[in-house]
Amino acid sequence: MGTSALNNLRRDFGGAIIEPGADAYESVSRSVLAVGSPACVLRPESVADVRAAVAFAAARSTATPPLSVRGGGHAFAGFGTNDGGIVIDLSALSAVDLIDKENHLVRIGGGATWGQVATALATHGLAISSGDTRSVGVGGLTLSGGIGWKVRKHGLALDQLVAAELVTAAGAVVRASAEENQELFWALRGGGGNFGVVTAFEFAAHPTTDVFHGRITFPARQAATVLQGWADHLRTAPEELTSIVNFANPFAGGPDAPVEVLVTFDGDDPRLAAEAIGPIRGLGAVIDDDVSLRPYGDVLVEGVIPPPGIRFAPRSGFAGEESAAAVLGILAEAGAAQGAPLISVRSLGGAVSRVPEEATAYAHRRAELMIVTTTAGPGPVVEAARPAMDALWGRLAPHVTGAYANFLGSATEADVAAVYPARTYERLAAVKREFDPGNLFARNHNVRPR
Ligand SMILES: Cc1cc2nc3c(=O)[nH]c(=O)nc-3n(C[C@H](O)[C@H](O)[C@H](O)COP(=O)(O)OP(=O)(O)OC[C@H]3O[C@@H](n4cnc5c(N)ncnc54)[C@H](O)[C@@H]3O)c2cc1C
Repeated sequence: MGTSALNNLRRDFGGAIIEPGADAYESVSRSVLAVGSPACVLRPESVADVRAAVAFAAARSTATPPLSVRGGGHAFAGFGTNDGGIVIDLSALSAVDLIDKENHLVRIGGGATWGQVATALATHGLAISSGDTRSVGVGGLTLSGGIGWKVRKHGLALDQLVAAELVTAAGAVVRASAEENQELFWALRGGGGNFGVVTAFEFAAHPTTDVFHGRITFPARQAATVLQGWADHLRTAPEELTSIVNFANPFAGGPDAPVEVLVTFDGDDPRLAAEAIGPIRGLGAVIDDDVSLRPYGDVLVEGVIPPPGIRFAPRSGFAGEESAAAVLGILAEAGAAQGAPLISVRSLGGAVSRVPEEATAYAHRRAELMIVTTTAGPGPVVEAARPAMDALWGRLAPHVTGAYANFLGSATEADVAAVYPARTYERLAAVKREFDPGNLFARNHNVRPR
């Protein structure tokens, strides 16, 4: 890294500049799921700092300067760090402010985590539908979707976004909303970090009560019937009910691991909750059931930072009602085999499917289920599992569509094509040409300007 360029940056930059050799370097050079060796990590404390950092990155002379913009640092593909490039770490921009009490408008710094948001909003009796983990960033999760415990009732995280402010590749500060820069606002809701550094998000939060949440566990041998009955029930269940089934978990016994049905009922009426959850309890021989009333913030779990060298390789796809039975049949069979990956199926529908397809760049509105398989371990273990994963997804291929950007361990052209149908991609590329023609923001599911 040129010392004179860094010295110039020091003049304009009020945040920390962390280089190799500094005490903090080891911890800030890695993201949650990836180890890197960036030339420096810049931690802005203001919009002016972000502008200085972007200008510094844009001025570097290498042909493809790796620039990582890190929100919560949870991208499975390791976007939050790189080797030899620059990381803009937004963690100091994490304020959460209720800016309009009457309309529940909340302004959130681009580097905040969902745990910080849940804690800050709880004091106002508010929440934002987000994900299931406290340490995940508002930035990455929102810009590509946001599927969490209130998704069927309140939609994706990006469905609650009302405005965003960003620093573009040219260093301009731009606001996007339904009134200003509408096409950019469309692109930001699903198009990931392609268009600039979002320094603030504004959301319409919703009033929340405590919620019923917990885990209902069934024996592995009942996986097939539990899965089919679960999907049938969710088709007509109240939208307050959102649920995830996890099975074949290698950390809990692989094919012999119990089937866990996690449920959240978004409300505190015990009778309504029991009516919504009851049919799930009747799907098999319940081994354990810890569903109870909890503050919404307590439902979110802490993310775990794995030791260096451990890779997570998730793959995802979506299924509509017509293919749900076939998909669940294949998954139940795959989960019963030795060496199966962790398999999760998330319920969608409800509020997500009521938003028109063209309203945002998130392209999977009509799905009723999202399927996620995850292999984890040292690199060679993940690689050894790849042929079996390819075979499983080959079987699923006739019945599933697309992929969820936030649950992809890689960012190949095929991955990007699965995330964005051609028409969505073309529209995103037009926005990219306007706001990042040189593709400075490329550590993401990249939309190329040309
Ligand atoms: C343990 C765990 C649990 C998860 N649970 C869920 C879940 O329940 N639901 C769900 O939908 N997803 C979930 N995810 C996936 C998660 O949404 C993605 O990993 C997401 O990309 C993480 O965002 P981040 O800001 O933490 O990550 P980062 O790696 O920091 O960022 C991811 C991408 O977004 C860009 N980005 C982040 N912030 C900004 C910003 N302010 N401006 C511009 N670009 C930005 C980055 O440049 C990068 O390309 C989970 C992931 C993990 C590891």
